[in-house]
Amino acid sequence: MTGIQDIATPRRTKEIIQRHGFSFKKSLGQNFLIDQNILNKIVSAAGLDDTKGALEIGPGIGALTEKLAQSAKVVTAVEIDQRLLPILEEVLAPYEHVKVRHGDVLKLDLQEVFASDFAGVSKVSVVANLPYYVTTPILMRLLEDKLPLENIVVMIQKEVAERMAASPGTKDYGSLSIAVQYYSEPELVCIVPNTVFIPQPNVESAVIRLRVRETPPVEVVDEKHFFEVIHAAFAQRRKTISNNLKSRFFTKENRDALEPLLQQAGIEPSRRGETLSIEEFARLSAVLLEAGIS
Ligand code: SAM
Repeated sequence: MTGIQDIATPRRTKEIIQRHGFSFKKSLGQNFLIDQNILNKIVSAAGLDDTKGALEIGPGIGALTEKLAQSAKVVTAVEIDQRLLPILEEVLAPYEHVKVRHGDVLKLDLQEVFASDFAGVSKVSVVANLPYYVTTPILMRLLEDKLPLENIVVMIQKEVAERMAASPGTKDYGSLSIAVQYYSEPELVCIVPNTVFIPQPNVESAVIRLRVRETPPVEVVDEKHFFEVIHAAFAQRRKTISNNLKSRFFTKENRDALEPLLQQAGIEPSRRGETLSIEEFARLSAVLLEAGIS
């Protein structure tokens, strides 16, 4: 659908910013999108329709919000920077089904937002060009809170997107890959050139889609313990799984107990954490728990 205003063009963005005397705050990760093609790719990856809702984090001056308003039944956008509120009020005036909330998304009660803003929609997706300084905390909070989400489609730093989508045995694979893949199925949508933003960020960017899982891909007895084992396994990447686990969970007195437990889980003690699949970590955590190691 063609926008009423098409905020995301270099000319219109500069005009809005100048008229409101707005200056970018680097500390808030403010890199605004000025490219219609990228916005259309982001919105189409979210699979929205007029029965669904969209939650946007950091609307800026509304470039993506406008597109979401044209594709979803209801849109809620959470913006931390108070200076952007009058701009958003102006540019989003034609869209009555868009609500802007002022605040830090990390401090917001998202369960309450879902109950009040998205009561009348079939499914909700998060769609955002995220502030890069808080990408991981925001995404982990969305996933760990087990919100009823369909997709999370976000522009993030390319390197972080690659880590999230990485497979075992690759250099990018680590605790972030496993955490994200436990809660969702990640898929890289596209790599994005720096020229689509003002100001241009110093890092490369990518759009990633996380299809949120209804149930995890493996059975985990105790999630807290499972993630502790994973963090321990990657504490020192060059060390073997055996040495990393010894440092975290064992004492001099009981460390001989580890190798038989690894064997029981079907894991060779000389392997490194980066070669273990999610299934293997789940098995390892269960075996350690059963032996009272936590
Ligand atoms: N969506 C706009 C676009 O694509 O042009 C702006 C994206 S810009 C990369 C990130 C936005 O997130 C900024 O508007 C910034 O003020 C806002 N922001 C930064 N930290 C935030 C937080 N903790 N909670 C909510 N919004 C935040």
